[in-house]
Amino acid sequence: MDAELKRNYQTQNLAAIVRGRTQPDSFLVVSAHYDHLGMMGSKTYFSGANDNASGVALLLELASHYARPENQPACSVVFLLFGAEEAGLVGSRYFVAHPLVPLPRIKFLVNLDLLGTGEEGATVVNGKVYEHAYQRLMALNDAHHYLPRLTARGRAANSDHFPFSEAGVPAFFLYTRGGSQAYHDVHDVPAALSLAGFAGAFGLVRDFLDDLGARP
Ligand SMILES: [Zn+2]
Repeated sequence: MDAELKRNYQTQNLAAIVRGRTQPDSFLVVSAHYDHLGMMGSKTYFSGANDNASGVALLLELASHYARPENQPACSVVFLLFGAEEAGLVGSRYFVAHPLVPLPRIKFLVNLDLLGTGEEGATVVNGKVYEHAYQRLMALNDAHHYLPRLTARGRAANSDHFPFSEAGVPAFFLYTRGGSQAYHDVHDVPAALSLAGFAGAFGLVRDFLDDLGARP
């Protein structure tokens, strides 16, 4: 196998917004990285179904929900799709250095990465940092039984929430647990994913955002 370093390789972020009805200058953010590992040689393809087509799919479900007129939120909801996460959070670090909305106006960011399983519930990175918000998330999950279990972690530089929380933006990173263990290998394919927690994660994140002020 020959490795080739490509300098100044270009990638891009994608951003979309649903304007808030009454507080358009306050923002809730949903993010997910859309890149993965690409090819190794000419035959070996890394699909990245769990990492992170699953998170992108959940982001699109939420965008579709909030884009309906009857669901127009009170404050604005921003959807960020990051490139080059796998290369070291490059897209999210760029956004934090060149924000399209003022970072202090972001009330909360929910980053979605690895949402394709869920048999054992989900983990919330920064759940131990933003304890009040985590208690609210737990209460919503207990009330509606969205996911079998939630577990809180402390801070970790393991996905695109990290540049934001380091810059003072309250942020969670949600990922599901159980099922397929394929990770950064050729077995991370759609057929390996149960999507056991997908609908539950959708309901949980939607309720959490609505609770933070997205509801009209
Ligand atoms: Zn990922």
